[in-house]
Amino acid sequence: MADKPVVVVGAGPAGLCAAIELKKAGAPVVLLDENDKPGGQLFKQIHKFFGSREHKAGTRGFDIGTGLLDESLRLGIDVRLKTEVVGVDPGLRVWAVEDRGRSYLLEASRLVIATGATENALSFPGWTLPGVMTAGCAQTLVNVYRVLPGKRVLIIGSGNVGVIVGYQLMQAGAEVVGVVEAAPTLGGYGVHTAKLARAGVPFHVRTTVARAEGGESLERATIVGLDDSFKPLPGTERTLEVDTICLAVGLTPSVELPSLAGCATTYVPELGGRMPLHDEYMRSSVEEVYVVGDTAGVEEASTAMEEGRLAGIHAAWSLGYLDDAAMEAGAAETRRRLDALRQGVFGKKRFDAKSRVLEESHNR
Ligand SMILES: Cc1cc2nc3c(=O)[nH]c(=O)nc-3n(C[C@H](O)[C@H](O)[C@H](O)COP(=O)(O)OP(=O)(O)OC[C@H]3O[C@@H](n4cnc5c(N)ncnc54)[C@H](O)[C@@H]3O)c2cc1C
Repeated sequence: MADKPVVVVGAGPAGLCAAIELKKAGAPVVLLDENDKPGGQLFKQIHKFFGSREHKAGTRGFDIGTGLLDESLRLGIDVRLKTEVVGVDPGLRVWAVEDRGRSYLLEASRLVIATGATENALSFPGWTLPGVMTAGCAQTLVNVYRVLPGKRVLIIGSGNVGVIVGYQLMQAGAEVVGVVEAAPTLGGYGVHTAKLARAGVPFHVRTTVARAEGGESLERATIVGLDDSFKPLPGTERTLEVDTICLAVGLTPSVELPSLAGCATTYVPELGGRMPLHDEYMRSSVEEVYVVGDTAGVEEASTAMEEGRLAGIHAAWSLGYLDDAAMEAGAAETRRRLDALRQGVFGKKRFDAKSRVLEESHNR
């Protein structure tokens, strides 16, 4: 049994689920998050999830978040908000800064890193003008702070984040003047893309943004067609009157803390790029450090929750809070749900990519 707590960094869906499993098993756990509210990205997600009932199909992201928060409160988890972790080391020491003031050191028996992902940017002439922002920024403004970032919006990137945020901006009263996609085909799930298509939003494939222009802030964007080598096609430029550009061009796992902890990383384009290696229990190359959720490869909130549970169950077992049978049964059930989530055209790609990560981790 542990005299030090398990420290979970990041109270998004992955970190919350890890902390819940640990606490349920009886392990001491401290959950840290820099935000003033736990839940990570979930509280921005006002749409209903889909899939099967056991994956919360039909439930809105913020309701899933509220359920996890209620459970963590009921269990009495020590959740410390407005607490940024600025450093960790391979000796499992964690440096935390509370409310941008007091800093302190925590010594952990196990560390679970669930710090999510960072949105990618795209640079083009005019990209620093006010009005050009990431899709996640627009989603935070509209769904968390109830502020509409603009009235005429151009979305760059047709993946799920782009089309979901586009639809939510429309619901809040903005006009989406188009979705621009550099690839020859659209990237998001049909169910989300169709909502914008039905509303008459034009989709431009093999197209990118050439420049943004304006005075004090964004006033117009010029888009341009691309050839097979993604080079701009002369004579295809079109200028659109817009006050907002949302960049939805992918997410990259946040690997800063795993790197400081000494975790080995690998490069997996399908999961967002550089990410920490991990085994089938979400254990990194440093045995006492677990990586879960988007940090361990960008997927979805549902997979993040299952990975969190898996790490929580295994970490509790490794400290003697669960016996072998309980750990194996819990892990098998969680993996069954994870496998079910990684099916279909998009899921299969992630399943194959995760399998390569496990293989690389075992071959080290
Ligand atoms: C804009 C956007 C839209 C999305 N839309 C959907 C969607 O519609 N459906 C879906 O299934 N998935 C969606 N996703 C993906 C989904 O939200 C993520 O896969 C899921 O939230 C990942 O969970 P997580 O717990 O790994 O990370 P997050 O939810 O990102 O949580 C990470 C937490 O870590 C905290 N943190 C980070 N660094 C530190 C630090 N140093 N110290 C302390 N705390 C820290 C953050 O404050 C945050 O609360 C979206 C993602 C983004 C960015």
